[in-house]
Amino acid sequence: MNIMDYAQNLLNYAKEMSRLDQKLAKKYIKSAITLLKKKTINVPNEWKIYYCKKCFYVLNPNNTKFRTHNKKLTIKCNNCGNIKRKILKK
Ligand SMILES: [Zn+2]
Repeated sequence: MNIMDYAQNLLNYAKEMSRLDQKLAKKYIKSAITLLKKKTINVPNEWKIYYCKKCFYVLNPNNTKFRTHNKKLTIKCNNCGNIKRKILKK
């Protein structure tokens, strides 16, 4: 298994776990990101909607406010209140 596959697995676990145990989910996402950084691999852009950059809270539609406005997606972290915006492609 290569590093990217391994990290992807950790992300998937984190997403699953975020519904049950946010602490565990955080642990998974943190280790995935630490792993990539250690190997100097950039965190894939699409990952950034799955976790909060500030507190590593794993975001899912049940615990997070997703709003679209003017083709922009706004995601608010329910844990620390950090807001991120993403421009949606057509
Ligand atoms: Zn946060």
